[in-house]
Amino acid sequence: MPKLSVVIPVFNEADNLPRLYQRFKALLPQLRKEISAETKEDIEILFVNDGSSDNSAALLESFAASEPAVYRYISLSRNFGHQAAVSAGIYHARGSAVVIMDADLQDPPELILDMVKKWEEGFDVVYAVRQKRESPFFNNIAYKFYYWFKCLIADYPVQKDSGDFSLLDRKIVEVINKFPEKERYVRGLRAWVGFKQVALPYRRVERQAGKSKYSFFALARLALSGILSTSVKPLFISGLFSFISILMIIGVIVYSVFSKFYIPQDQMPKGWTSLIITVAVFSGLQLISIWLLSLYMARMYREMLSRPTYLIAHDSLKKDGEGR
Ligand code: UDP
Ligand code: MG
Repeated sequence: MPKLSVVIPVFNEADNLPRLYQRFKALLPQLRKEISAETKEDIEILFVNDGSSDNSAALLESFAASEPAVYRYISLSRNFGHQAAVSAGIYHARGSAVVIMDADLQDPPELILDMVKKWEEGFDVVYAVRQKRESPFFNNIAYKFYYWFKCLIADYPVQKDSGDFSLLDRKIVEVINKFPEKERYVRGLRAWVGFKQVALPYRRVERQAGKSKYSFFALARLALSGILSTSVKPLFISGLFSFISILMIIGVIVYSVFSKFYIPQDQMPKGWTSLIITVAVFSGLQLISIWLLSLYMARMYREMLSRPTYLIAHDSLKKDGEGR
């Protein structure tokens, strides 16, 4: 079994793959030294071809043919999306440590050396944090705001400014692979698992060639998935609205009782008080009912995700790594 797997999702990256291959070619000797590799098989570079329609498949085939011990690829039956491709990759990777990175060289392969060093120091997850983004000003603001909001409402600590570029120890991979959820947000799952995690700052450069494979809607979907899979709090917004509506009902009742006594009745529209109170009470009742539903929905959602109630990092009676 390889010591290190590098999982790389690929969707129409024919213009980037030769350069990526060259970067790995230069890096492999250092990487082999770092992990004290004994054979070529100790490092596996696993590409996941996510239904590319350009020349990517042929290029991946040629890499695998050039060094079958190192380069491997799997092809999905069609384009399933980035997160599905990453999930397929970490499921099929065999290494004791698994690195996830993009194919467009926005994630510098050389950083894997530092990740491996941290892993050897005993960290289970080493995640790269984007220190500086080379993207347009407004995109940067949007990203910052998004990560801030996501972290604010998340149900467990999630990592700011961190994408999928990371190294996962085998025990982390095993846990994530066992999660039955199909709509996967890998960086969220990685944060959920816990264990010893460390951030590695890096500069994320522009992609080498081509355009982002994320359309505006695909990016919006990923952003939404990031929030929905890390937090059930949006469900409780009806709870907040119920609270506001209860305050409004009280206000309306107080005001109408007050107006009965202090405002001459001929100046009040007929039936106003009863109409307003009826509307306020019934919309309040509806909101409270929705809120109650959302309480049960949140429970059902958590049960449906079937995440373990806890994970054990260490048991003093057992050797490290046993008894999970
Ligand atoms: N990707 C994929 N399937 C898709 C979209 C993207 O496998 O449907 C891959 C893509 O080839 C790249 C990585 O996922 O290696 C990240 O995609 P991209 O660079 O387009 O995302 P961005 O960096 O713009 O967020
Ligand atoms: Mg990219």
